[in-house]
Amino acid sequence: MAEPTFRESVDLMYNRAVALMDLPPGLEEKIRVCNSTYTVRFGVRLRGRIQTFTGYRSVHSEHMEPVKGGIRFSLGVNQDEVEALAALMTYKCALVEAPFGGSKGGLCIDPRCYDEEELERITRRFAYELIKRDLISPSQNVPAPDMGTSEREMAWIADQYARMHTTDINAWACVTGKPETFGGIMGRREATGRGVQYALREFFRHGEDKAEAGLSGDLDGKTVIIQGLGNVGYHAAKFLSEEDGARIIGIIEHDGALFDPEGLNVEAVHDWITRHGGVSGYHEANTVADGEKVLEEACDILIPAATEGVITTDNSDRLNARLIIEAANGPITAGADDILRRRGVVIIPDLYANAGGVTVSYFEWVKNLSHIRFGRMQRRQEEARHTLIVKELERLDQAMGATWSLSPGFKDRYLRGADELELVRSGLDDTMRIAYQSMREVWQSREDVTDLRTAAYMVAIDRVAKTYRAKGI
Ligand code: NAD
Repeated sequence: MAEPTFRESVDLMYNRAVALMDLPPGLEEKIRVCNSTYTVRFGVRLRGRIQTFTGYRSVHSEHMEPVKGGIRFSLGVNQDEVEALAALMTYKCALVEAPFGGSKGGLCIDPRCYDEEELERITRRFAYELIKRDLISPSQNVPAPDMGTSEREMAWIADQYARMHTTDINAWACVTGKPETFGGIMGRREATGRGVQYALREFFRHGEDKAEAGLSGDLDGKTVIIQGLGNVGYHAAKFLSEEDGARIIGIIEHDGALFDPEGLNVEAVHDWITRHGGVSGYHEANTVADGEKVLEEACDILIPAATEGVITTDNSDRLNARLIIEAANGPITAGADDILRRRGVVIIPDLYANAGGVTVSYFEWVKNLSHIRFGRMQRRQEEARHTLIVKELERLDQAMGATWSLSPGFKDRYLRGADELELVRSGLDDTMRIAYQSMREVWQSREDVTDLRTAAYMVAIDRVAKTYRAKGI
């Protein structure tokens, strides 16, 4: 059977969910279709000749504005992919209650083939094409980083927008994922990986859900295989191993994989990849040339964090993980999803699992519009109130003849007011917990809903439908 395209896969998953819902006639189609896709071809003079590039910005749903979604730099970028990713953004934002419609952009380019100066010229030119059509704008369309892009590209885009809108006081809110020194927010770089960690922690808080995957206990000692040690994969692997005691036994990259049942040193591998561009030549673990084979090794948790369409009808029967968390967008095709569901593998779906990025992007956008750092007004006031309580406790202690004392370190920890990073983490943790609970409630309470993905789509589609109904469209 031919594998559906990425966009067809997303539509098939959407259709599974709406079949279990009661949407008014016509609304089902209105929500599913992509509103518009803009294709641009532009030339940049590089190395003595004009090179032509193709880029896209797709807007899936404008039921809320601005619309939001990353910009990807990759040779695999095409219209089908950008539309699938834009649709996922609509459902993702609805699921985590970020007040945005869905969008996505991409430039068909291998960023590794250009130096920094060339990339800046290409990025600024692409941004110019989108900005002049309001496809980048603080009030209408707000991109963020995705595969192949980072804070650096976001800073160029923000600066390009500011140059073209010299009197727009909210110019920096035209894009998120910027450097902290250029309108960014603490904790954005790590946000998607951090969100994967919070998602898994929440999953392990629910005994019934763990039992469905044949797992018990918490994350401590669980074996993990991760595909893609880029922004998302690296942070997820780092936090899960350093803070939760998970054992990363496999790391799959574009040029092969590393495998060690005793656990890999995530920092050392990441450092190697940064310096050498891949895992090849890393001698501290077994190297597997056919990296995708490592997807099939036995583990508790499999984390595809690279790209779409890596778990297909071809290999899904051979996977040996009980739980898969989709840190990447669309790593499991619709056909593979059917097979894995039948096999009882629990899948924490992309639209929830990697929503940490857009959640913290939302905080950054709010910060840019309010022109003030989170915590700036309250931090010292919070400290003053805490000091008052501690002093009063100490006074009572003295009055009672010093019969008890505060535990060591309590005073320092309690007195400190929350800074921006703590507030961002708290907001992200809360968002990931609440969104998980909203989908698990549907999963566990309805007999006809047998998986978390369908539940997640149902929650998201219901919210989008309610907005359309309230607007009277
Ligand atoms: P990235 O470019 O930082 O990292 C991707 C990594 O995957 C790279 O190390 C690359 O070498 C590796 N890779 C690419 N193709 C591979 C393959 N076939 N097999 C093994 N490894 C491969 O990208 P990222 O930002 O970490 O994004 C990864 C995924 O997460 C994408 O699906 C993206 O849409 C999704 N995502 C990213 C964010 C974000 O904030 N960056 C947010 C939500 C979702």
